[in-house]
Amino acid sequence: MNYTTWEQRVRKVEPYTPGEQPKTDKVIKLNTNENPFSPSPMVEKVIKEYNEDALRLYPDTRAGLLVDALAKRYGVDSDQVFVGVGSDDVISQTFLTFFNSDKEILFPDITYSFYDVWAELYRIPYRTVPLKDDFTINPDDYKCDNGGIIIPNPNAPTGVLESLDTIEEILKANPTSVVVIDEAYIDFGGTSCLPLIDKYENLLVVQTFSKSRSMAGMRIGFAIGSKKLIKYLSDVKFSVNSYTMNPLSIIGGAAAVEDEEYFQKTTQEIINTREYSKKRLTELGFTFPDSMSNFIFASHKKVPAKEIFTKLKEQGIYVRYWDKPRINNHLRITIGTKENMDKVFEKLAEIVG
Ligand SMILES: *Cc1c(COP(=O)(O)O)cnc(C)c1O
Repeated sequence: MNYTTWEQRVRKVEPYTPGEQPKTDKVIKLNTNENPFSPSPMVEKVIKEYNEDALRLYPDTRAGLLVDALAKRYGVDSDQVFVGVGSDDVISQTFLTFFNSDKEILFPDITYSFYDVWAELYRIPYRTVPLKDDFTINPDDYKCDNGGIIIPNPNAPTGVLESLDTIEEILKANPTSVVVIDEAYIDFGGTSCLPLIDKYENLLVVQTFSKSRSMAGMRIGFAIGSKKLIKYLSDVKFSVNSYTMNPLSIIGGAAAVEDEEYFQKTTQEIINTREYSKKRLTELGFTFPDSMSNFIFASHKKVPAKEIFTKLKEQGIYVRYWDKPRINNHLRITIGTKENMDKVFEKLAEIVG
């Protein structure tokens, strides 16, 4: 290529579009799968006790307090844990580290809309694999030559949980690729594939504090896998930025992990409200794949999703809508408090009634 302008040399990319963060707190915000509960009171405690003079210093590059707390909680060695600035950071580093061949990486056609952005950014060839009509995965589709695999389980934005058998079937067929399972929503009733890391050296499990631990604002994500995977991931991370985790995220994150009781209580409450919401939505004429996450991906039998989305927004209720093939008649509704959900059902009854 003959370069005639500097702009031809720019690494161009179509960025990810995050859900809207309204400037007011007068809305019922069910558009980005945030947790309606406060973080654990232990998080508040350690942050209040923090001496801000320590902000003069660079943080612990190892984020040892957080890494060790996670290792203990999940029953693995500390050198099997990698932490980052949200799981977005962890997954981005994962793409950079492990998806490094001329073969296509694979992920579902309906999935977290950041994956194709990272693939484009890092110039990784990729192919999306169509989900079945019921939004489940056919593991046979992943039994082919590939450059790596990433699958969210439960999937977003569908909420569909795949069984461990399905995940293991994909792992068995792919010993020469790194297989990443993005478990952002696993704490809402799913079974984590973490126990499989002992059997599959090439399995990386990614989770986040943004959903089940109510800490989206703190930006904490982590990956657990074999020591080898974590070593390769750390080598890349330390080649980009050694000090990714700020001290408040490190101490706050560790405090949250140690408060198991609060975590169990709040996640259970969201699960209960989700099950209640499924009943109410069904009564209102909505259908949806069974969700094992903190959101429901619903579509109405008569009223188009886009219309419901607009009308809810006018009433100060934010949900997520994508004008994309196969999902343009669905709304992703985050599970909020029971009180908030009741307000949503009241408005929905007016809209679809
Ligand atoms: C929310 C989400 C993430 C990213 O979460 P962070 O806030 O960056 O930790 C990653 N994957 C999926 C599927 C998500 O829904």
